[in-house]
Formats: sequence, C-alpha cells, structure tokens
Amino acid sequence: MTRKPLDAVTDHDIAVLAEQLGRPPRGVVGIAARCICGRPLVVRTAPRLDDGTPFPTTYYLTSPPAVAAVSTREATGLMKELTARLADDDELAAAYQRAHEAYLADREELGHVEEIAGISAGGMPNRVKCLHVLVGHALAAGPGVNPIGDEVLSLIRDEWRPDRCTC
Ligand SMILES: [Zn+2]
Repeated sequence: MTRKPLDAVTDHDIAVLAEQLGRPPRGVVGIAARCICGRPLVVRTAPRLDDGTPFPTTYYLTSPPAVAAVSTREATGLMKELTARLADDDELAAAYQRAHEAYLADREELGHVEEIAGISAGGMPNRVKCLHVLVGHALAAGPGVNPIGDEVLSLIRDEWRPDRCTC
C-alpha cells in the first residue's frame, strides 16, 4: 500500500465536519478519506487536543450515513462475534496486530503522546470494541490494512459504500 499524503483541510471542510458531527470538530489535522463528492468521510485527528487531552482515535469516521450503517451492525452484537474469531483465527489475529501497529505508526507521525503510547483504538490488537474506529482506519488506509474494518465495509456495502455518494 502506498500511503496517501496528509490531505489539507479547508474552511469548507471544517464547516462540513461541524455539520456532520453537530459540534465544532476538534484537533483536525487532515482529511484522511473523502467521499467521491469531496466531503470528508474520515478526519485525521491530532494525538493531543488543544486542551491537552490525549486523543487515541487518529481516524474518526464523520460521514453520517456511514456512521449509521456501522451503528446498525454494532447493534447486532457483531463485535463479540469478531472478537471470538480473533481468538480462533491466527491469520486474522496476525493481520489485526499489523493493523494495530500501522495505526500507531500513523499516529506517531503526528506526534508522540506518552499517555497513549502503545494504545491504538477500537479494541486493537486483541479485541473488537468499536466498528466505527476500524472502518475509519480501513477507509483512511485503503484495503488490506485493517482486516476487520475491511470486513465491516463489505458487510455494509448495500447500505453504504465509499464509491457511491449518499451524503
Ligand atoms: Zn458525497
């Protein structure tokens, strides 16, 4: 995978993010993934917010239709099922471990924050706790980096997919 360059944030992006989130976005350092229409899907966030709070979730899913589609899957208890599979499937567990390391490496590029050193997000590397985080990572990194995020994206593709605008 080639890494995408940090995508510059415009004033328009900030306005769209505020609308998507229903609050002013915090710690935005880039747009990690965009809809084909140009609106942000995933925001890249600083590892420490302006008020000093450590912020482990480097990739935050902002697109309301994507968030809704993922929330529907969370409500079915999919996290428990996926966590159980990690314990049984060594190959999946190894790929998920690599996703965890990739996540930490990306965040480290934005600055080192001691309080969250070695801690990624979404439950990585041993558990699946937040599908929004894993989908945010999969969209930011592209296919083949976060296996659980990729799988959730394929599960929701009838409701939401990144190559079809439903903004
Ligand atoms: Zn769109």
